[in-house]
Amino acid sequence: MRRVACLVVAALLALTFAARAETFPSRPITIIVPFSAGGPSDAMARILAERMKLSLGQAVLIENVTGAGGSIGVGRAVHAAADGYTISFGHLGTHVCNGAIYKLSYDLIADLEPVALLPSNPMIIVSRNGVPAKSLAELLAWLKSRPTPATAGTAGAGSGSHIAGLYFEQVSGAKLQFVPYRGTAPALSDLVGGQIDLIVDQTSNSINQVRAGTIRAYAVTQAARLAQAPDIPAVDEAGLPGFHMTLWSGLWVPKGTPDEIVARLNAATEEALSDPAVQKQMENLGLQMPDKDKANPEALGAWQKAEIAKWWPLIQAADVKVE
Ligand code: ASP
Repeated sequence: MRRVACLVVAALLALTFAARAETFPSRPITIIVPFSAGGPSDAMARILAERMKLSLGQAVLIENVTGAGGSIGVGRAVHAAADGYTISFGHLGTHVCNGAIYKLSYDLIADLEPVALLPSNPMIIVSRNGVPAKSLAELLAWLKSRPTPATAGTAGAGSGSHIAGLYFEQVSGAKLQFVPYRGTAPALSDLVGGQIDLIVDQTSNSINQVRAGTIRAYAVTQAARLAQAPDIPAVDEAGLPGFHMTLWSGLWVPKGTPDEIVARLNAATEEALSDPAVQKQMENLGLQMPDKDKANPEALGAWQKAEIAKWWPLIQAADVKVE
């Protein structure tokens, strides 16, 4: 008798899940972007959301929950209901590096379910136009000749721009004074306005200002030049060989979200990334599409774990303090 009751309960639960997945989504979905509006994470999430709403048949809203290197916004998503209506947007900083920097109230692997890997881009070393250097070699000489460190804007401890800045200090031997913001959108405004000296920024954030001539670019952090910005040297030719960093992004949902819902969100993301109009917008920002064999949620999970294994020891060795 007990066995029959158990089977009935199991069947009912399976039906409820199936019905939930079939009707999903029946109301708007929110993507939590853990940095300021107008920045590179926000820009990518908004391009995706516009296209995902077509496949999902529901509005996809962006909520910017900023602060503490993106760890507050990720926490908000982790603690939301595991029903697919709240998605966590993040990147190498928020979903890898923050685990080695902050005492988080959540576990980046155990409390999140990967959905899809998103495009990536190299970092770019940019300065305010008033900095007297015209090349990376001159910039390095200028940084080292200063009595006090130059100021470098970041999106907070553990953000992409901060990790890239720390890595830059390590490979160049130059010292920087980091200035944390709630995202690189406000940092970039201050760079254009001349209030800070530098950002080791995501290319997708700075590229339009570089094109407009309001800030100066020195190099992109990969071996070869970017097709979308062929005038900007690559670090290898410009004097910091091997200073390579690619900032990738991704989507996650709270752990316990039904598999069917994760699959639905993954399919909507992949459909968006395969749309030539979306690809054009992203590529114009210097973003590179992920390989097709990395399109499933498992690939993002495996990649996130591999990145944790690579970056955590480096960050722990650098003894990063939360400002
Ligand atoms: N991705 C962040 C933003 O959108 C910046 C960063 O991580 O450096 O502002």
